[in-house]
Amino acid sequence: KCKHLYASCLGFYDEGEKEREAEETAIMNDMRRAMEQEQFIMFFQPKFALSTDTDFGAEALVRWNHPKAGLIPPGKFIPVFEKIGFIVQLDYYVAEHVCRIIGKWRRDGKNINPVTINLSRVTLLDPELVEVLRKLTEKYHVPVSLLNLEITESAYASDPEQIMAAIHTLRRAGFVTMMDDFGSGYSSLNMLKDIDVDVLKVDMNFLSGGMAAEKGKIILSSVIQMAACLGIPVIVEGVETKEQRDFLDTVGCDYVQGYYYAKPMPQEEYERKYIYRTAE
Ligand code: C2E
Ligand code: MG
Ligand code: MG
Ligand code: MG
Repeated sequence: KCKHLYASCLGFYDEGEKEREAEETAIMNDMRRAMEQEQFIMFFQPKFALSTDTDFGAEALVRWNHPKAGLIPPGKFIPVFEKIGFIVQLDYYVAEHVCRIIGKWRRDGKNINPVTINLSRVTLLDPELVEVLRKLTEKYHVPVSLLNLEITESAYASDPEQIMAAIHTLRRAGFVTMMDDFGSGYSSLNMLKDIDVDVLKVDMNFLSGGMAAEKGKIILSSVIQMAACLGIPVIVEGVETKEQRDFLDTVGCDYVQGYYYAKPMPQEEYERKYIYRTAE
């Protein structure tokens, strides 16, 4: 099953007659090598405060720069990595990379806004998680407030108690947590009653489609209002047009992210444009 997934998403793995277990070990070894060879690279997509349209931190998004397959987007390999458990190592790799780079920016005297990383539900269930993140922030002299964590809404679907406990522990250690992709799955508003979350990240995509878009606008503005009443800041992602931006402005959205403002970009470009500001 695993082999099939791996083969179908990358399209080059050989179809030999190995046992499944050996297959998985081989894949894990491949992954470790890929990591050592720095094939996993980070893109950054800035976030913006809507009222001023000024950038406010960024989200780190991983890509696999594969020697044969080229740049592979995370949607292609993360589901596979979750199946074989490698996602935990990848999430920690990303966390270390981001802490290291924030540490460098700070040493260079830059005033840094938070950078968020995405954590898989598999990583959230790792009992070492808080200690790993705490040690990484210490190692690179990064205040915990600068490493924010995005957890996709669907992560709450199974083992909600364990996930909630993990988030609680992270928040107690000072990490800011965001519920990612809110409204994209089968979330219930009731979740917000039981789940501690610092920021709600709402996906613009759920507005898609003619008539549904009109209803979606009403729902979106209600979600933003409700979050405001609960004292939870909202960031809307996937903002692609000025119309969407202006609509969000009228309904009191706090932060935005999307192609209209900036696409995810290689780290060097992000640094040039948003940290060192030496571009153009
Ligand atoms: P996400 O966290 O919801 O990230 C937003 C995705 O939407 C990104 O796709 C981003 O490139 C894309 N996007 C941003 N603005 C727009 C827009 O205006 N329009 C449209 N159509 N798309 C937009 P990407 O980079 O392919 O990442 C996909 C997903 O992979 C992420 O969704 C996240 O769940 C996951 N992911 C990425 N990096 C990591 C990681 O380091 N660890 C884990 N566990 N998951 C990751
Ligand atoms: Mg995210
Ligand atoms: Mg999202
Ligand atoms: Mg999304």
